[in-house]
Amino acid sequence: MKGASFWQQVWHTLLNLLFVPRCAVCGTRLPPGSELPLCPMCRTLYENDKEVTCPVCAGRMGDCLCVPRDMPRCGVRRMVKLFRYRPGADDASAKMIYALKHRNLKILQDFFAKELALPLSGLVEQPGEWVVTYPPRSKGAGRRDGFDHAGALAAALAKCLGCRFTCAFIREDGAKDSQQKRLSRTARFAAARKSYRLRPQQGLAGKHVIVVDDVVTTGATLAACARLLRHEGAVKEVVFAVLAQTPSQKGRV
Ligand SMILES: [Zn+2]
Ligand SMILES: [Zn+2]
Repeated sequence: MKGASFWQQVWHTLLNLLFVPRCAVCGTRLPPGSELPLCPMCRTLYENDKEVTCPVCAGRMGDCLCVPRDMPRCGVRRMVKLFRYRPGADDASAKMIYALKHRNLKILQDFFAKELALPLSGLVEQPGEWVVTYPPRSKGAGRRDGFDHAGALAAALAKCLGCRFTCAFIREDGAKDSQQKRLSRTARFAAARKSYRLRPQQGLAGKHVIVVDDVVTTGATLAACARLLRHEGAVKEVVFAVLAQTPSQKGRV
């Protein structure tokens, strides 16, 4: 009996270590049952990160639906985004994106899904007409972390909005995600076009489709997905929903 209680204690200690919710930014322990992935201080920092002015309409970025100016025309006129992304920066939001990519944290996925659902709820009047999907990562990247963060985010968003979630795309293992980062802008668009195929019989014709991703940089991946959805999937409309937008090197967005 003594042995059993010892192992029970070890088990509980392990469970606590593994499952005690911690702040996704600073790692501080959160109260049990916490619905937010952030401690109060990091929540304030995150809210500050969201106070970004949109360079296209000069309004608050999170409230507008502007598409980046240097994104080539792919027939998408509405994009929901929350903040600006500076890779490797000390921003609370950048650290949250890092945690989203590398740790399969449901609390963080649900938090970001709710954040995106807020501006989208004005558009999604009839959830039955809307479908949520995402561009899958290359097999190498997916295998390394054991999950696809954009897929998890898209599924959580579909649940928030009450609409259907589907894996609309098949990823060809051409250019790996890590290789794509080193390509020039033009090469990136060409590679993205070759990287995705539309899965047949998704019932997307005539639907509004939300394509979810974490960060938009050149927009090559999202543009490739939008083209497939419009030309092969015959969808009514494509809307992008991303957490963050990277400012382009030219200073434009
Ligand atoms: Zn914190
Ligand atoms: Zn705007």
